[in-house]
Amino acid sequence: MIRICMVGTGYVGLVSGACMADFGHEVWCVDILEDRIASLRQGDIPFYEPGLDIMVKKNAAAGRLHFTTSLTKGMESAEVVFIAVQTPMSDSGEADLSYVMQVGKQIGSLLRGYKVVVTKSTVPVGTARQLAGIIRAAMPRPVPFDMASNPEFLREGSSIEDFMRPDRVVIGTESERAARIMSEIYRPLYLLDTPIVNCNIETAELTKYAANSFLAVKISFINEMASLAEKVGADITVIAKAMGLDRRIGPKFLHAGLGFGGSCLPKDTNAIVSIGQSNDTPMRIVRAAIEVNAELPQRALAKAQDLLSSLNGKIVALLGLAFKPNTDDIRSAASIPLTRLLLDAGAVVRAYDPVAIAQFRELFPDVTYGDTAYAAATGADLCILVTEWNEFRQLDFQHLAGVMRGRAFLDCRNVYDHARVAAGGFRYACFGRPASDAPPGEGR
Ligand code: NAD
Repeated sequence: MIRICMVGTGYVGLVSGACMADFGHEVWCVDILEDRIASLRQGDIPFYEPGLDIMVKKNAAAGRLHFTTSLTKGMESAEVVFIAVQTPMSDSGEADLSYVMQVGKQIGSLLRGYKVVVTKSTVPVGTARQLAGIIRAAMPRPVPFDMASNPEFLREGSSIEDFMRPDRVVIGTESERAARIMSEIYRPLYLLDTPIVNCNIETAELTKYAANSFLAVKISFINEMASLAEKVGADITVIAKAMGLDRRIGPKFLHAGLGFGGSCLPKDTNAIVSIGQSNDTPMRIVRAAIEVNAELPQRALAKAQDLLSSLNGKIVALLGLAFKPNTDDIRSAASIPLTRLLLDAGAVVRAYDPVAIAQFRELFPDVTYGDTAYAAATGADLCILVTEWNEFRQLDFQHLAGVMRGRAFLDCRNVYDHARVAAGGFRYACFGRPASDAPPGEGR
């Protein structure tokens, strides 16, 4: 059993802390947000993440998972301190490291005996070494410690499963002592034969950006190919399937549509471009992926305009606001620029999402929100499927036709086939599939 302090109780810190407690370790989770810690002590989870409430309650009840706003308390008996605070994108595109460095300073001032300090946040290459300097400078008197980088690859919406059964764990450290302690933390995963990649700190730091950038490139690649497919009468869903059957390529992240969003891919792609610039190595492919992705809301708007001729004064219902299904996270969600474009074009926007309405309302208080897909669509001229939540995969188009004023459906995630939507009397548009698939008279 290892005693762990997890600094930050966001998606990564809370999930990692709860899962490490489930591995049998004793975990103190620390956050500066007093309300968040007070709720967590009551077993209330501050965001929507399937299965996390059970994991937290179970391990808190077993006395292995604790919550505090005091880093002093959290670090008191810890052998390892994980830093899992946010690293948002700054205006210049770089990762904002102020939260990480602030924690580093505090850790330094509180170190009294040997500990391993681990960056779990996604941080640019060189951060752990810089952090070591900050920790050292903040120490009242010299104390030995080691640094490690242990980037996190979990995905919101399936984070518990991702943490408990990861494809791999990456541990970067040059200290044998730290490596031993880190292996002990992940011992239950060794038993599952999870590949553990041991490397130096720089390799671990860059691996996280390399993996996320590659995923972003894959998504932008298929989206660019979708634009071409539309022009030449090819079907991107079939192309993606055929490509994905090649084991060298694989089927994941090959879905054409509104592109990537969320708190990671947009910020991490921008960060690697900055890291490349500072190291005189332009990241041209990633930059192209960012550009392709940025154009997609505009492409959706053009399709909406095609369907309705003009959007001015038209009522548009958005189905799904979260950046992907199974999360209430709207950070860098495509729904945000799309809503702005629709409003700028004079449309009246209505919206529904199973869990992300409260967050979206803070950005768009004047949008009208329905409490079901059909409520949001009532009176609408056009419905746009933005996030492919399961509940939008089986829409009743007769019902939709009954409540809507118009008969237009824009499927930004290629969930439906033309025939099914057209059967409800709808004009239909999607991404990268030919209009000729539509039954006669139902083309775009
Ligand atoms: P988040 O914004 O959800 O949570 C960060 C938490 O840290 C907040 O609760 C905040 O109050 C807390 N915090 C900030 N400063 C603090 C301090 N000084 N002391 C204690 N707590 C403090 O962030 P997140 O989504 O969990 O992401 C954390 C890091 O993990 C980022 O670097 C991110 O890129 C990376 N990451 C995120 C995901 C994901 O899916 N969200 C996946 C992999 C990696």
